[in-house]
Amino acid sequence: MIIVMGRDVTDEQVGAVVNRLEAAGLKANISRGVERTVIGAIGDESPLTEEMFTPLPGVESAMHITKQYKIVSRESHKEDTVIDIGGIKLGGNQIQVIAGPCSVETQEQMDLSARFVHEAGCRLMRGGAFKPRTSPYTFQGKGKDGLDMFRKAAGQFKLPIVTELMDIRMLETFMENDVDVIQIGTRNMQNFDLLKEVGRVNKPVILKRGMSATINEWLMAAEYIAAGGNHNIIFCERGIRTFETYYRNVLDVTAIPVLKKETHLPVIVDPSHAGGKAWMVPALSQAAIAAGADGLLVEMHPNPCEAWCDADQALTPQELKDLMGTLGGIAKAIGRTL
Ligand code: PEP
Ligand code: MN
Repeated sequence: MIIVMGRDVTDEQVGAVVNRLEAAGLKANISRGVERTVIGAIGDESPLTEEMFTPLPGVESAMHITKQYKIVSRESHKEDTVIDIGGIKLGGNQIQVIAGPCSVETQEQMDLSARFVHEAGCRLMRGGAFKPRTSPYTFQGKGKDGLDMFRKAAGQFKLPIVTELMDIRMLETFMENDVDVIQIGTRNMQNFDLLKEVGRVNKPVILKRGMSATINEWLMAAEYIAAGGNHNIIFCERGIRTFETYYRNVLDVTAIPVLKKETHLPVIVDPSHAGGKAWMVPALSQAAIAAGADGLLVEMHPNPCEAWCDADQALTPQELKDLMGTLGGIAKAIGRTL
C-alpha cells in the first residue's frame, strides 16, 4: 500500500501515518518529493485498509498497489507527470529535444555547440564531462573543467544542461555547478547506491535503460530513485543489446507505449546511441515521436569528423536543424507541439 500526502504536509501528519502503520506491524518508507509525499508500507499489507489512513490529516489517498514498483507506477498517479527543468516542461504536450555533443572537449567546441543547439530550436543541451568508455586508454572526459565549460557555453543561451554522473563522489560537484538534469547512463542503471544518492537530491534525473535490462528492472531502478524522495525521473530508451550486429543497439520502440502505460513519468529516446550512425538518427527519431516519446536525446557536434567520442553518430548542426523540421510535422500529426 502507498499513502499519498500533499506538498505542505507536516512532520506531525507524516508521523501519524507512520504510527498507524507501525501499530499494524509494518514499517514505513517515507519519500518526500516536491509535489507530494508518498509513504510506502513495508511488510505484510493484508491487515491494511484504505480507510485506516484516508481520514488522517494531510492524507490525499491511500491505495493498494499491485505492482512491485509503486511511486513510479501509473497505478499510483493517473496523470502524466510534467517535469520542470529551469522553466522548460518535459512530459507535457510539447516535445523536447535535448541536443549536444557526446562529450565536452573544449570551450570553443561547447560555445559553438550551444549556439547550434539554440539555433536549431532545441531548448535543452547535453554533453558528457565524465565519460564511461569501454577502453581505459581512450578519452575519459574533461571532468570538473568540462562542467565549467558546459555551464559557460549553455549559459549564453539559457539552455539547461544535461550531463552524466558516474560516481557518487561527484554528486556534490554536480550540485555546486547547478547541473540541471543528472543523467544516469546505461552502464549504471542498476548501480543501486548511485540511484539511492540521486534519490536524495532535488534534481531531475534521466535514467537510461541498461543495455540488457528488462522493462521491469528499469522501472524498479527508477523506484530506487523515487523511494528516496526524488520523483523527477525521466526514462530514456537508448537501444538494447540483441543478436543483431549491423547497428550499435536495437531501438526498442515497443518500450515507449509500454512505459507510458506502466508509469506516469516522461519517456524520451536516444536515437544516437541506439543506431550508432548519424544517418539512422532521423528515422529512429521520427519513429520515437510517432510512438509517443516525450522527447529525444540527440548527439550533435559542430564538426562530427573531429569529435573525440562517438564521431560516427553525431549529427552536423545542419542535420539537427533538418531533423527539427521533420519532427514538427510528426508532432502536429499526433496533436503535440515541438
Ligand atoms: C551518453 O549519452 O553519453 C552515453 C554514454 O549513453 P549510454 O549510457 O546510453 O551509453
Ligand atoms: Mn555518446
